[in-house]
Amino acid sequence: EAKSAGNNSIRFFDPLMQVAVEERARLENELRRAMRNRELIPYFQMQVDADRRPVGAEILLRWQHPDLGLVSPATFIPLAEETGLIVPIGFDVFEAACLCLTRWGKHAATASLTLSVNVSVGQFRNDTLIERFAEILARTGANPARLKLEITESVLADDIAGVARKLDELKALGLHLSLDDFGTGFSSLSYLKNLPLDQIKIDQSFVRGILDAPKDAAIAQSVIALASAIGLEVVAEGVETESQRTALHDIGCRLFQGYLFGRPCALAEFETALGARLAPQT
Ligand code: C2E
Ligand code: MG
Ligand code: MG
Ligand code: MG
Repeated sequence: EAKSAGNNSIRFFDPLMQVAVEERARLENELRRAMRNRELIPYFQMQVDADRRPVGAEILLRWQHPDLGLVSPATFIPLAEETGLIVPIGFDVFEAACLCLTRWGKHAATASLTLSVNVSVGQFRNDTLIERFAEILARTGANPARLKLEITESVLADDIAGVARKLDELKALGLHLSLDDFGTGFSSLSYLKNLPLDQIKIDQSFVRGILDAPKDAAIAQSVIALASAIGLEVVAEGVETESQRTALHDIGCRLFQGYLFGRPCALAEFETALGARLAPQT
């Protein structure tokens, strides 16, 4: 669309930009259709303790596209953010997590497992966040103490007093809070002290470098020591090898997530893996 970009300038029709606009509109419609057709599927990735026992899972969304196959959230979450669709999508994920926890709560073997859900900036900012979470928790009867909301440092870039108030309200619902991808953004260490966080997740970029990049190893070690000292739980993300796991354990990490312990998978497959892992070792 040719449009004046200011009082004195005229912008001319740009065919490339037109393509981008159409492509985006097409993808946006696709995403709306995907929501209606329940093509957005929660996958589950295991988290384990120092004894390799499952302690919970992170929900990671997948788009089961009829033509394209599995589409990565790295592709569609940014689009969902831009279009605001992240808000309804995020509530669907939260509800799926609650329903899952309610079911797991009925069986001794799964009752103590936690579920982590990612909350992106656009969803966090939504004015109905607290009331919708409260409503879904009440309706499903899920135990909020078994739910961890993962926020990233980008959430903290907003007015920090407002963010802190909202985090307090989420805590008041009984939910737990985790700071995802820790170390990749620009958050201040004072946030760790002042915000009501329960957990931080050491980003996989540090885990990847832990064996041969001395700086990554030093940062991981310092973060684990600092977080532990102020009572925060620490999870290492993206653990792929035994030697990474050993190195992390040696510097005090006690919770792990990564392909070494299981890839994200659909619920049925996850529960099968869980059944095997929870069964007494003979
Ligand atoms: P994240 O929350 O930091 O999730 C961790 C990512 O690391 C996931 O990518 C996971 O599949 C991947 N991962 C786990 N273990 C390993 C490993 O050992 N090696 C490697 N190379 N990767 C590993 P995924 O599933 O592609 O998700 C990407 C991002 O998309 C997530 O990063 C999260 O920010 C976002 N996302 C996923 N699901 C949701 C959702 O339901 N809501 C929102 N708002 N964001 C979501
Ligand atoms: Mg996450
Ligand atoms: Mg992460
Ligand atoms: Mg990430």
